[in-house]
Amino acid sequence: MAHANLIDGRAIAGQILGELALRVAALKAFALTPGLAFVRVGEDPASRVYVGRKEKACADLGIFSETHVLPYAATQAELITLIHRLNADPRLHGILVQAPLPKHIHEAAVYSTVLPEKDVDGFHPVNVGKLMLGDPSGFHPCTPAGIRQLLIRSNVATDGAEVVVLGRGNIVGKPMAAMLCQKGPGANATVTLCHSATRDLPAHCRRADILIAALGVAHFVKAGMVRPGATVIDVGVNRIDGKLVGDVDFLNVQPVAGKITPNPGGVGPMTIAMLLQNTVRAAEIRAGI
Ligand code: NAP
Repeated sequence: MAHANLIDGRAIAGQILGELALRVAALKAFALTPGLAFVRVGEDPASRVYVGRKEKACADLGIFSETHVLPYAATQAELITLIHRLNADPRLHGILVQAPLPKHIHEAAVYSTVLPEKDVDGFHPVNVGKLMLGDPSGFHPCTPAGIRQLLIRSNVATDGAEVVVLGRGNIVGKPMAAMLCQKGPGANATVTLCHSATRDLPAHCRRADILIAALGVAHFVKAGMVRPGATVIDVGVNRIDGKLVGDVDFLNVQPVAGKITPNPGGVGPMTIAMLLQNTVRAAEIRAGI
């Protein structure tokens, strides 16, 4: 049942896709179709599902996509050779290498092979550096960029807000903290980044105006850790008895929170919308728009 304090990620992602459809149509008027390559290594079931969803989202928006699948035993050199080929392919404006990669492949070496201007995941060191510097010419990682849009479009003020981010992963927590502490609109927050070595983590959480949980621990955030009226963003994807649940104990936290994302239906759709936005932007930049 819809609830007044829910941040509806599907609806907000839908708005963004509507805006992107106009930009794709404008590019097509110049005979330019944005193109995105997906690379998967091995047959991890979750990766297959994630890439499948992204392929469908591309097709729905009129973005050209192609998927390359290497066997689990592929070497790092083979993967890097493929990325060089995709870097050189003018039909492609973006390249996404789906994580996780097999243990024998060094993820950082792979991400730094993707050309920064095709790095629509925002994982290349040049784009990570631009994010830290507040240089808007880089690509931002999709999940934290999506969360920022959720906050902006739900009228959650970040200026001067106490934001507590749980988890210092490179994909969500760390770039989220970097994004929200920048000077400027939709940021300008006082950010605390918590992790497994944080002393008295619940006390940090209770100070938060905005609490963002990106740990990967099912139902970690309990009602007693949330300041009444705070905004709670649940990023985690965990499986309990085959059912997907987030990092937030949603049933008990929702009555305390001012605003809260459902999970699923909160952050997930935004991650895909931001991937498509980065791809359209990469095509626009190449076209000189
Ligand atoms: P990650 O790189 O493994 O980072 C997890 C972080 O959580 C680490 O910093 C870890 O601390 C911290 N942590 C774990 N258990 C903790 C505990 N008990 N107390 C305090 N800190 C703890 O994970 P990630 O890639 O950032 O992903 C985080 C979650 O978000 C996962 O569930 C992932 O599936 C989900 N995710 C969702 C989306 C989406 O679109 N919805 C996208 C990306 C990721 P240490 O560093 O100290 O070990």
